[in-house]
Order: sequence, then structure tokens, then C-alpha cells
Amino acid sequence: MNRFPILAALFISLSFVACSSKDSSTHSMETLPDTPAAPTGKVVKTDAEWKQELTPEQYRILRQSGTERPNGEVYSEFKHQGKGSYHCAGCKALLFSSDHKFDSGCGWPSFYDPAKAENVTLKRDVSMGMTRIEVNCAICGGHLGHVFEGEGYATPTDQRYCINGGGLIFVPAKTP
Ligand SMILES: [Zn+2]
Repeated sequence: MNRFPILAALFISLSFVACSSKDSSTHSMETLPDTPAAPTGKVVKTDAEWKQELTPEQYRILRQSGTERPNGEVYSEFKHQGKGSYHCAGCKALLFSSDHKFDSGCGWPSFYDPAKAENVTLKRDVSMGMTRIEVNCAICGGHLGHVFEGEGYATPTDQRYCINGGGLIFVPAKTP
């Protein structure tokens, strides 16, 4: 008996399950109508608590140092967003502002400066066979992305904070 059709059918149905579960949790940057309350101190939670509070994609990025798909839905949303602020999806701390965003063409949301420097921490990251500077939320420790400099962008800092939009919350400005 030829088992290939059964295996093929199994593979197709598994792929479908994988895709549909991904579709329900990714492809969008969370937005809030009003500026959330800023955390008053460091935010420390257990892994189980983070898993419960965050969407699977937010959890993957912030707590597992995941990277979102470049040039995806989130990047497209980011490019079309007007003025507003970007907060950590984990602890709601203010991280970035539309005042510092620029189109780097790299496929991920890019800023040339944080909105509030004390809310981000930078550390050397030697994973993936590269030496990069990792950007984390200083309040909850969530992974945000990496920062690169000296690439020649015509911005005031020549830095590119290459950030996973899926780990951010966008709050549109009241007066655009
Ligand atoms: Zn945070």
C-alpha cells in the first residue's frame, strides 16, 4: 500500500493548523486609544504570568527574544501610522515616539533614538554568529530588537533602533 498520500494529507493538515494558529496571533501591532499608566518601578513577573498576559507573538518576541517576520503586516502598519507614542507591550513603559521614526527600508520599525533613554537598556549580543547590541525594555526586561550605528542614514544620530513592532503598543497622538 502506498503511504505517501496519507503522509501528504497529514502534512497539509498540520501546515494548515500551524498557519491558522499563527494568523490569529500575529500580523498586528496592538494599539490603545489612550496613553497607558507608566509603570512605577521594575516589573517582574513569572514566565507563566507573562505567557498568560501576552499574546503568543508578544511573548515570543519580548520573553524569548524572538524576531518578527520582516516586511510583514506590522511593518506595513508602522509605515502608515501617524504621530503617536510606542510603549512596551509587556509593562506599558514609553519606549519610542513617532518623532524619531524613519523609513530605513530594512523591513522592521526603525527609530533613530528612544523617546525615553532610561526606559531602554543596551547589551552586547553575540548570538547568531554576530556581534550586535541588543535593545531591551529597562522596566520589564523584554527583548525589543537591536541597535546599529554608523550605517550612514541621514538622521541626527546615525543609529537605527531596529525594533520588533509586535512587542510594542501604539498610542496615536490626540492631535495629529
Ligand atoms: Zn517593558
